[in-house]
This record gives sequence, structure tokens and C-alpha cells, in this order.
Amino acid sequence: MQSNVRLTLAIQKKGRLNNDSLELLKKCGLKLLSSKSSLFYSAENFPIDILLVRDDDIPTLIRDGVCDLGIVGENVIQEQVSDENEYESLKLLGFGRCRLSIALPKDTSFNDINQLQNARIATSYPNLLQRFLSLNNIKASLVSISGSVEISPKLGIADAICDLVSTGKTLEENNLQEVAVILQSQAALIKAKAALSTEKQAILEIFLRRITGVMQAQESKYILFHAPKNAIARIEQLLPGNETPTIMPLAGNDEKVAIHVVSREAVFWGTLEKLREAGATAILVLPVEKMMY
Ligand code: ATP
Ligand code: ZN
Repeated sequence: MQSNVRLTLAIQKKGRLNNDSLELLKKCGLKLLSSKSSLFYSAENFPIDILLVRDDDIPTLIRDGVCDLGIVGENVIQEQVSDENEYESLKLLGFGRCRLSIALPKDTSFNDINQLQNARIATSYPNLLQRFLSLNNIKASLVSISGSVEISPKLGIADAICDLVSTGKTLEENNLQEVAVILQSQAALIKAKAALSTEKQAILEIFLRRITGVMQAQESKYILFHAPKNAIARIEQLLPGNETPTIMPLAGNDEKVAIHVVSREAVFWGTLEKLREAGATAILVLPVEKMMY
């Protein structure tokens, strides 16, 4: 009998995490049908429903049992969550990477973090900032604002800011220098600590295996080349990731073999150049679409 139990997953409706979250779900093979209200998607070929919400609401939705899972930045979880035992991070997803940093106007010379004593610091992350300041015995006054934190020094309402940075372009545009990193963050798949029902847990395990497969495939490459038999030992040492290669005879050529290997890490031009120096020819590096171990 087919069960009608479904997992619910909250993702960001609009913003920096939306596209990568949807891409990940599609790569996991989910066919998403949007609802009329466009508040959620239903996967037609997998027992998961996707709720589209503001990222800040995701921890609460999970805590209140409205959703089983969520994809949200570690920064949001750490800012909102006082009790670490409420959530479980199931997997770091490798996108939405950023850092929470303190920045000062470029024309303020910076020596060390104690300079922030008595400073006014604008931020949307008062809890994380306060934790950092307390650890460093710094007393500062926090100015909590919800958006455009980077312009507050110019407006004269703060001496420094504490905000998310990824490329540093926004800081640069606002004449700010990054002086301390408080937190490194990326998107994570989270659930409540409380156990799911057996049926939901079974769905989650399949879903997690697919995510792991997608992430491994993204990083992996399939490398093929020809090489002289007497260079095999040397070439094996050069292969990225130390995976065991497959070695096959080449028709009509006794001196050379074909070598195939799956690399679970990025393959750089430098590696290919070294392989070539060692005698490899006709080197191909192909993307891996799916992977399951
Ligand atoms: P929402 O309307 O959902 O509340 P938001 O404005 O809070 O959206 P976004 O700016 O879309 O959120 O950022 C969502 C998440 O993307 C952040 O919480 C963070 O985890 C991640 N992120 C990655 N790089 C950056 C960056 N440079 N600035 C801000 N967030 C970033
Ligand atoms: Zn938000």
C-alpha cells in the first residue's frame, strides 16, 4: 500500500538562497509543481512539499513543527537560536557562502579589535555580534537595523558595522575596510532535534542520499588518458584524490594503456600538465552527472 506521508521542506522564497536551493532539489530528481498561490511547490515524483518563505522564518517554522526540514544560512540559525539542542544540521550544502564581519570606514586607521571599545556598531546580527564582543571583553553600543547596514557610518549613526560579506564589493563601494571575521557561513539543511516518524525518517534518508550524491558528483570528474606502461606508477602518484584507476589495454599498442579514474576533487590545469609531463596523452576530463556509493 502506498503511504501518503510527505516531508515538508522550507526554502527561501526570494533572495540569495532561492535559486541554489531549487537547483539542488532539481538535481535530486524532484519535479516541482507550483501551487496557484505560489506559496509552495509539490514534488510530483517524490514525497516532499516545498514551502516558500522568508529565510528568517525558517528556524521558527521548524521549531513549531510546521515544517520538517529547512534550507537556511548558518548565520540565521546561529543568530536566532539560543538553544543549540533545538536543531540538527543534517548537511552543509556548499552554497550561500559568506562571512559575518566587522568593518570600519577606510579613513579610520585600525590597529586592533580593542579600538571598538565604546564604539557604536550597526548590525542586523545583534546576538552574534554581542557574543563576539563579550568574548573579547569589548563594551560597545549596538545599533540594530534590518537593512542597508553598510550606509550607517556615512549617515553618522554608527562608527562601525557588522554585516554579511561575500565578495567584499559592497564594503568597497561604501569605503569600508573589513577588520574582523565573526562567523563563516554557508547554507545548511536543518531539522528539529526531535525524531521524525519512521515513515518520514525513511523518506529523509533517501533524500539525504540523493543530496550527498549530487554534491559528490558536482565536485567529481571522470579523467581518461593514454599513458606508456612504464609511466603508470609515476602517474598514479599524480592523480588527484588517490582514487584507484582502471587500466585497460589499447588495441594494437603494446606500449601504452588507457587509464580511467574518477576524481572526487577538482582537477586543476596544473595536474593535467604534470600528467602530460609524465607521459600521458589524449587527456579528457568529463563532468560526472550522478553518483551513488
Ligand atoms: P528574506 O527576504 O528571505 O529575509 P534576506 O534579505 O534576509 O531575505 P538575502 O540577502 O537573500 O536575505 O540572503 C539570504 C542568505 O544568503 C543570508 O542569510 C546568507 O546566509 C546568504 N548570503 C550569502 N552571501 C551573502 C551576502 N553577500 N550578503 C548577504 N547574505 C548572503
Ligand atoms: Zn532574511
